Amino acid sequence: MASILLTNGRVLAETEPLSNGYVLIKDGRIVSLGPMTGDPGLSADRVVDVKGAYISPGFIDMHTHGIMDVDFMESGAEDIKRGFFEYARYGVTRILGSTLSNPIDSIVNQIKVIRRAKEESPAGDLLAGVHVEGPWLAARCRGGHALEYLKNPKRDDVDRILGEAGDLIKTVTYAPELPGSVWLTETLAARGVVPVLGHTEASYEHAEKAILAGARHVTHMYDTTLGYRENPEEALVMMPGMETAVLYYDEVSIELIGCPVHVPRPFFKFINKVKPRERRIIVTDSLVGTGMPEGTELTYKDGRRVYVAEGVLRMHDPDPAVEGNLTGSAVTINLALKRLCGYADLSVAEAVRWCSLNPATTLGLNMETGSIKIGKYADIAVFGEDFDVRMTLLKGNIIFEKKQEST
Ligand SMILES: [Zn+2]
Ligand SMILES: [Zn+2]
Repeated sequence: MASILLTNGRVLAETEPLSNGYVLIKDGRIVSLGPMTGDPGLSADRVVDVKGAYISPGFIDMHTHGIMDVDFMESGAEDIKRGFFEYARYGVTRILGSTLSNPIDSIVNQIKVIRRAKEESPAGDLLAGVHVEGPWLAARCRGGHALEYLKNPKRDDVDRILGEAGDLIKTVTYAPELPGSVWLTETLAARGVVPVLGHTEASYEHAEKAILAGARHVTHMYDTTLGYRENPEEALVMMPGMETAVLYYDEVSIELIGCPVHVPRPFFKFINKVKPRERRIIVTDSLVGTGMPEGTELTYKDGRRVYVAEGVLRMHDPDPAVEGNLTGSAVTINLALKRLCGYADLSVAEAVRWCSLNPATTLGLNMETGSIKIGKYADIAVFGEDFDVRMTLLKGNIIFEKKQEST
């Protein structure tokens, strides 16, 4: 479709939200926007009256492992292609598909599968790239990552992964206290991959060294990241950890999982206050069970079993100490946003920045997407008062449209 006109919407334009406005899309891009006052005298191949809904930048989820039985580490290309349209149901227009700690071979091969899905899908542009999460993580802070796969960064592994899949990799999460991590940071930054700190018990010094070498983001802060530690030589004297370093350096963005089980609520207000406006990011870190009914059980390829419980995934395990452990999130980004508005007392426009312009900025995509602005791609989510998504457009193509309820 060459042109679409969205009318009568609350337009979350980058410069100034419009309480009743229009957005005109032509050849995939936003070509005009403004208030509805009078007759703007516009026409298009299709006109959609959104009847007071929000016309928002599409959501960018820079950390997600899967949705609706699709898993970026395990699924084949056909399932991943289906997954793109599942994301669209929640207003998502860009994701980074996240891998998990595995043998390097498996990660490289899986990224090739993801690449094929991207190339073959009509919604392939929804995948902005891959987030490699592990295997260079701290054992103590591994969370849902398998201990047997964790390792220190080695040149052969890094060369292999960047050599065969570097074109698709946008971010890599690693623990900056591991030997070789400064070299890893510099290598990633030089290749245009965003170095990301996470799954770490780093000291302030380790984190600072990585930041000075180019690290620019933190993976699910307050979840598998440790803050202060007591000085072993001075009782009750606290030593700063990674948290202090990533808050001190304004250039580092911080992501929070939009889930109160993973991130206790006061942290949302706190990050909103202490981080520069463009460095606050919300993600889902969602796993395969996302979007599936309560109690759904899923079995991973390696035999591990998980189940959906109140918006999170928990493990089944014969070991009672592990049974029921939190293993990941099952939140959708629109629900995460709704929560964020409440937790940090934010307007819809301000909350939406956390999963549109801000991640676009961290990923270097902000010249082409991430906001409602003339000239940018028409990556748009239309949603109602309760963040119920009615329509999603990816580069001007409608990739999700909720059926009208008949009265
Ligand atoms: Zn993680
Ligand atoms: Zn993750």
